[in-house]
Order: sequence, then structure tokens, then C-alpha cells
Amino acid sequence: MNVSSRTPEGFPTRCPHCQAEAAIEYSPETGDASCPVCGSLLWKNDPLAYNPILEPKFEIQKFVDWVAVDAVHLDHDEAFYETLLHRLVISLAAHAGQIWITDSANRPQKICETGIEKLGQDMADTTENIAETWYAMAHQTGAFLVEPGAIHCVSSLEFENTSDFLLLFGSMWRKEEYNGFVVIWQRTTDLARTKRGYLRFVEQICELLNNP
Ligand SMILES: [Zn+2]
Repeated sequence: MNVSSRTPEGFPTRCPHCQAEAAIEYSPETGDASCPVCGSLLWKNDPLAYNPILEPKFEIQKFVDWVAVDAVHLDHDEAFYETLLHRLVISLAAHAGQIWITDSANRPQKICETGIEKLGQDMADTTENIAETWYAMAHQTGAFLVEPGAIHCVSSLEFENTSDFLLLFGSMWRKEEYNGFVVIWQRTTDLARTKRGYLRFVEQICELLNNP
């Protein structure tokens, strides 16, 4: 799949002199570049110029660019969902993800996944057994989060998150029909402060995808 982006590729950098944030292409030979704003000399291995939060921030910019401009015009085929999942997992700095899509018998079929092998075989088995419950929950509630140890209830459905990951679900719609869901595994130590932002982010991405 040809994925274009209007956000330049490069190493996420914050200029220690003028504080400008930019994706910088450093010289592979010398490891230096000049700040696009103030012209100061920058070094790729300067710890002052690197901030780990910049990487997900830049990925989110690229992802939103892609969704807003390109993804809404693409066929929603397997390659499309793979790209979507990959970018979502990187943007949220998450560990793993899956996308389940409705088949012709209105049952969820796993269409792609990433990072699940790192979660262990137990988790892979669990997702196969619980997918129909997740599918029905996402249909009824849209995006939702289940914290480690929490129980999520929707009408008569119940799911207990026995893993030590935060689970984030987003419902996917296509031409106003419920089309499936995306699930993201994330390890985080600051659940309360970040969760509303995650939900809003996933909801907005899903809205953009479905309303070209
Ligand atoms: Zn600068």
C-alpha cells in the first residue's frame, strides 16, 4: 500500500536553543543538522535535543494527516486495516492490537493483529474466546476502556480484564453499519489522567474514517 504523509519523516527533535519541535533529517555521516527555525547546529545524539514524548506526538500528527487526507479515499481492504492498526498502535505508544471485522454471517473475524505474540499464548487464546463479547460491547457503547482488574458490563454482557494491560476498544462503522472493532493493549501507570484523551482520539479517528 502506498501511504503518503505530509508530515516529513525524520528524527523527533526539540531545538535546545529556540525550543522549536521538528522532525530532523540528520547527516548520516556526521550526525548533525541545522535547526529549521533558528539555524543552530543540532546533534542527533545530544540528549538535550531529544524528548521521548515527541515521537508519539509526531506519529499522531502523521496518522491524523493520513486518515484525514488519504485513508478516507482508500478501499477498506486487508492492507488498509493493517496500516490503520499499525499506525494506531504506534501513535498510542501501545504494545499490541487487533482488528475484528464483521463477516457475511454477522460474526467477528480477526483481520489483522500486531504484537500479540509478545503478550503470550494465554492472551492469544483469550481473544479468540472473548471476541464475540467484545464485538457486541463495542457495537452498543462505541469506544471504551477496561483497566486491569476491572469488570466492564453492558446490558447482560460482562467482561473482566484479568490481564495487567489497559484495554482500549474502538467501534468501527462503515456506511453507517457497524463493521467491527479495534482493540489495543497498553501498559500504563497513569490511567486516570490519560484515558479520556485516548477515547476521544480513537473516536475522532473512527469518525474521520467513516465520514469522508
Ligand atoms: Zn532552533
